[in-house]
Amino acid sequence: MNPVLPSFTSLSIEIETRAVRLPRRISVLGATGSIGESTLDLIGRNPSAYQVVALTGGQNAARLAELAILHRAEFAVIADPGGYAALRERLAGTDIEVGAGEDALLEAASRPADWIMAAIVGAAGLKPTLQAVRQGTLTALANKECLVSAGDIFMAEVERAKTTLLPVDSEHSAAMQMMTGTRPERIELVCLTASGGPFRSWSREQMRAARPEQALNHPNWSMGPKVTIDSATLMNKGLELLEAHHLFGLAPDKLDVLIHPQSIVHCLVHLCDGSVLAQMACPDMRTPIAYSLAWPERMHAPTKRLDLAFLGTLSFETPDVERFPALKLAREVLAEGGSAGTVLNAANEVAVEAFLSGRIGFLSIAGLVEATLAANGGLPTCHRGSVDDVLAIDAEARVAARSFLARFA
Ligand code: NAD
Ligand code: MG
Repeated sequence: MNPVLPSFTSLSIEIETRAVRLPRRISVLGATGSIGESTLDLIGRNPSAYQVVALTGGQNAARLAELAILHRAEFAVIADPGGYAALRERLAGTDIEVGAGEDALLEAASRPADWIMAAIVGAAGLKPTLQAVRQGTLTALANKECLVSAGDIFMAEVERAKTTLLPVDSEHSAAMQMMTGTRPERIELVCLTASGGPFRSWSREQMRAARPEQALNHPNWSMGPKVTIDSATLMNKGLELLEAHHLFGLAPDKLDVLIHPQSIVHCLVHLCDGSVLAQMACPDMRTPIAYSLAWPERMHAPTKRLDLAFLGTLSFETPDVERFPALKLAREVLAEGGSAGTVLNAANEVAVEAFLSGRIGFLSIAGLVEATLAANGGLPTCHRGSVDDVLAIDAEARVAARSFLARFA
């Protein structure tokens, strides 16, 4: 059975056993980010129901300290060792434990908890998220790069540890809600929707001159910078195809993408009897986060309610892969399998960072990823290796991508 798609029987057992354990012990990896803050917003509205165990942040020690105090966390960890002194100082006089660096991050993920939010951005989240998975913590997964980069290994660990993985990405949360209880062979197609981002109707010429602040101006969603740029290139939807493939065990020909500028329908599931299920909600990540937090129950989320009569029209288009080649690249990687996903992800992280710092233009993001994938012939390949193998390939791909930066500057 796919670990991400429980049967109705296991769901009712879950509902019975989970109902008694209050307060629930929860941890948030990437607490200072967009998903982390939204998660803590939900938790802060019902503090008696939760006990916050560990909170982690990347560099922002001041915000991490505020969140740790506000939510009475037991352990606060800053990934950047340079932030340790500032975090310690801000938490002086409290009984909150303080840690910094990679080992402390792994320790935060290891602290016994009933539920953990994995919301670090990029492959940096792989080891800590796997740590939580390995010890069987119910894991809400926002950090899609874990699956893009190391999907085979990651899902094998989920199965081995019998962990339940709850997708937080809105499309995958929607897919899980619609597919639970349905036999995989009855599903003909899972179609992920994409807003099309700020450049949906721009020509290639216009996109060539696009500046970071324009690409960061997403029409519907408020998110961290990396995923916002990924949305503008449509790489995000490509990464999500890989994510869906690994999460749900769906073959590439059962996965598709549809542009839907209003971001109201998050996913469509086509079934063998001609039914098409759609999950709808106003674009606010607190809805899929609430689903993962309350699962297998439901909880209130303070989001705007959907008014279809007010909206009037929902529209859909086929994505234009000539203008948005990142989607085509991701599809090729999906077909290829193996370590191609590791290279795609690493090259894309380098490219997005280079675009945001003004080193390359917008169109060069996909160009750099394509060049790195083409050079992949010289990189080692692994299909079911170890996490260290994945991280070694990731590091080599980053070196290769950086070596191409000058060509695209
Ligand atoms: P963000 O940039 O707002 O936050 C990322 C978090 O990770 C921050 O706490 C940051 O300090 C931490 N971090 C960054 N680098 C780190 C490192 N090297 N080591 C440890 N911690 C580090 O990102 P986000 O928008 O919250 O996205 C988080 C993840 O969720 C991403 O994988 C993204 O694709 C996914 N996601 C986000 C959204 C959204 O609406 N924001 C939607 C779907 C999926
Ligand atoms: Mg998404």
